[in-house]
Amino acid sequence: MVLTRGGGRYRVRTLSGDREASLRGRVKERDDHRVLVGDRVRLAVDGEQVTIEEVLPRHSVLQRRSPGQNKGTRHIAANLDQVIVVGSAADPTWEPAMIDRFLAVAEVNHLPVHLVINKIDLHPAWEELAAPYRAVGYDVFGTSTVTGAGVDTLRQHLAGHVSLFTGPTGVGKSSLGNAVDPNLTLRTGEVSERSRAGRHTTVTAEMHPLTDGGFLVDTPGLRDIGLWGLTPPEVASAFPEIAKYAEGCKFDDCRHDTEPGCAVRAAVDTGAVAASRYTSFRRLLAEALEAARWWA
Ligand code: GDP
Ligand code: ZN
Repeated sequence: MVLTRGGGRYRVRTLSGDREASLRGRVKERDDHRVLVGDRVRLAVDGEQVTIEEVLPRHSVLQRRSPGQNKGTRHIAANLDQVIVVGSAADPTWEPAMIDRFLAVAEVNHLPVHLVINKIDLHPAWEELAAPYRAVGYDVFGTSTVTGAGVDTLRQHLAGHVSLFTGPTGVGKSSLGNAVDPNLTLRTGEVSERSRAGRHTTVTAEMHPLTDGGFLVDTPGLRDIGLWGLTPPEVASAFPEIAKYAEGCKFDDCRHDTEPGCAVRAAVDTGAVAASRYTSFRRLLAEALEAARWWA
């Protein structure tokens, strides 16, 4: 399995230890996604020379589209089993709009996604924050790296899987990784995402093997989810509960705004769809429509 990549070199975990490998021939920019972190590969070993011979079929790929820069798609990591969206109950304040963005990106990538509410030591009433997400069907774990609450449960959930932590800066993703597996040494603290983004033009992902089996993927450059370009149909499909009610709308192309016979708005009125989720949906859809205009 490819653990890291950079400068045309790949760190690959094999049954007989980690090896540094390269690709045969010159790798062009457009071949950027030929080998991804998380890929299962077959190596050819010739003395000191280790070459990636073959990439085995992927069961998932996490992609990021950047509408502004080169309109290209960046492939972040392959073979993820699940995305763990992490938010904090306080400090920074719980922000549903932000959480819903992260969830939507995972949904669009067709990856199973779960939610962690960290720092519950700072906000004992965290279950209230979880309720709208449990109603949608998401698993929600409350954790604290300070009291240790929920850490065992999260560890069990990660064991044997390839998982990605994602979420806003400062919510405790790195701290959680270190709490779940004391062998990890993820950097925590107040690293400015802006300066980080300035240094790295590409998104890099790193696979960290977990002691209990499985891997945790860390992606320092991935956190600015605002740059993810979702299309309007993707936004519509990224909110499972809204997609469900949308089937009952009078018009097929209903934007669930002011159209008559909108089943989604009716569900918001009865509380069947959480108002905060509907607000997030409307905001992401407006952004996607705006971006679609730009692309046209
Ligand atoms: P990241 O940016 O999401 O990786 O967040 P970090 O892991 O760097 O943590 C940001 C800050 O939150 C650090 O000062 C941590 O010590 C603190 N922190 C992390 N987890 C918790 C927690 O469960 N409770 C409290 N009170 N603080 C936490
Ligand atoms: Zn509608």
